[in-house]
Amino acid sequence: MSSSPEQPARPAADMLEMLRRRGLVERRLVMVSSEDLTPRMRRLTLSVAGAEPFEPRAGQDLVMLLPDGAGGLGRRHYTIRSYRPEQRQIDIDFVIHSRNTPGARWALEAKAGDEVIAFGPRGRNVIQPGADWRLFVGDETCVPAIFGMLEELPDGAAAHAIIEVADAEERLQPGRPGASIEWVLRGGAAAEPSSARLIEKLAAHPLPPGRGHVYVLGETSTIRRQRHDLLARGLDKDQIFGEGYWRPGRVGGHDHLAEH
Ligand SMILES: Cc1cc2nc3c(=O)[nH]c(=O)nc-3n(C[C@H](O)[C@H](O)[C@H](O)COP(=O)(O)OP(=O)(O)OC[C@H]3O[C@@H](n4cnc5c(N)ncnc54)[C@H](O)[C@@H]3O)c2cc1C
Repeated sequence: MSSSPEQPARPAADMLEMLRRRGLVERRLVMVSSEDLTPRMRRLTLSVAGAEPFEPRAGQDLVMLLPDGAGGLGRRHYTIRSYRPEQRQIDIDFVIHSRNTPGARWALEAKAGDEVIAFGPRGRNVIQPGADWRLFVGDETCVPAIFGMLEELPDGAAAHAIIEVADAEERLQPGRPGASIEWVLRGGAAAEPSSARLIEKLAAHPLPPGRGHVYVLGETSTIRRQRHDLLARGLDKDQIFGEGYWRPGRVGGHDHLAEH
């Protein structure tokens, strides 16, 4: 990379048009700093340029337009882990699942002053009202969304999270004292589709009495199976919220829960 701040390449007109048609607001993000939270999770702090209103909810994400390595830009979704309105600064926590895909590579290489275009905030995976208890399930890509939502819940709200990560070093703490989190460890292995560990852990988890909401996020085939199992255990469709964050062979983007 050059030593001068990198200006964002302009995205293709049809990509811009498609994102705007979805009602998403275009933002310019300027890289401030980075730090490694764990061996495989890197936090980037970025400022949100401009003065337009920016009011993300915990769990929402941005569609970032990142260099694709071939002179163009690719769309990648990343959760807004936290927002400090007084500085207009956000934190985004990137899982370094590879060293040569656009999202992970950008997280490793970005330096202060670099700029990217992003659209949003977007996403319906936010705390929904009207639940007696909430259960959050996902892999490491979902830690920012799950922690953000846990932190937004009022004191005393019943909530539990089941999170799969590579190993014990990847466990983080949310800013919610006493949060109930069960970590599922892969023994250092890379994340894979249809995670039997996570599927079985959720299947064995007793669902509390009352009407609950379950958030299943992460790899698409894993959450598709989890949704199926939850429906079989008697939950209604409107008690299950989810989004496919990644899957083998897919490049960027996201999957709607009911579609796969
Ligand atoms: C709403 C939403 C919010 C998200 N928030 C975050 C977030 O806060 N932090 C975060 O790190 N990710 C997050 N993700 C997931 C992230 O967008 C994907 O992992 C994305 O594919 C990463 O881009 P990439 O360029 O590194 O890989 P891509 O070029 O998109 O993917 C190439 C290949 O890499 C593999 N792959 C992709 N992601 C993973 C993974 N995590 N583990 C193992 N293999 C993978 C797949 O085989 C894929 O085909 C989110 C996704 C969505 C939809």
